[in-house]
Amino acid sequence: MTTILQGKTALITGASRGIGRALAIGLARHGANVAVVDLTSQIAALEQTARLIEAEGRQAYTHVLDVTEPTAIADVVRAIETETGGVDILVNNAGILTPRRLEELSEAEWHQHFDVNAKGVWMMCREVLKYMRPRKQGRIVNIASLAGRQGDPTQGAYAASKSAVMSLTRVFAMEAGSDGIIVNSICPGIILTDMGYKNFGEDALGEERHWAEMTALKRLGDPDDVVGPVVFFASELSGYVTGQALNVCGGMYYH
Ligand code: NAP
Repeated sequence: MTTILQGKTALITGASRGIGRALAIGLARHGANVAVVDLTSQIAALEQTARLIEAEGRQAYTHVLDVTEPTAIADVVRAIETETGGVDILVNNAGILTPRRLEELSEAEWHQHFDVNAKGVWMMCREVLKYMRPRKQGRIVNIASLAGRQGDPTQGAYAASKSAVMSLTRVFAMEAGSDGIIVNSICPGIILTDMGYKNFGEDALGEERHWAEMTALKRLGDPDDVVGPVVFFASELSGYVTGQALNVCGGMYYH
């Protein structure tokens, strides 16, 4: 591991499990102190993530936060800014996927996907930028999805909301670049988390094998596979890269 993020503070949403937890531990391993937030229902798992950050010798900060709640976002970001001395890296990782064919999707489900996956990213960036801009530095990494580039049956609302994440990333990069703030997104392929398994139907094992075969590397992703690309975007290594979307999919897709 490196110390490339030494002295930096990261804020990661949806960090109680899956990719968010792997990123929290991964960024700590590369030197960052990490503030982790998630829904109230995930508090026990979130606290476990905090213990794993501390086991890496880094400082952990834990807060309950629903990224669809603007008042809570303002309160929690202010609290984290105060206790950490300032957020250098924001990782918008919280997301939801309810598999449903578009013609069967309810209006409520449509709104849920856009509220969490797209509006949540917009509101988190908007709030954290208030603090990053005067400091003339900051890194934002938004977790989009390969689905946002391509889309799959039963993932219409999810795919559309993840396309929105890539659009928001580009425009935030254009609007914040003059203050030295760098904004990029990552498009994971299938990563084997609770959400990743939602890609599979009744024959889960067969489908897992099928999708693994579709990758150049002949395997599906582990949450740890997302860490390196996020560290790259969070660090000085990517100082002239902004507004981009990077596929992290084992070579499943090439556009
Ligand atoms: P996950 O295991 O379902 O974890 C997502 C976390 O986000 C959960 O802890 C979830 O809490 C939390 N969350 C949901 N709604 C929230 C809200 N309103 N406010 C705060 N936190 C909220 O998913 P994952 O696989 O780790 O995915 C992480 C990110 O990667 C997501 O943005 C996802 O879209 C993206 N991604 C995943 C894959 C994949 O194959 N796994 C592929 C491409 C992109 P609850 O469980 O209580 O809802």
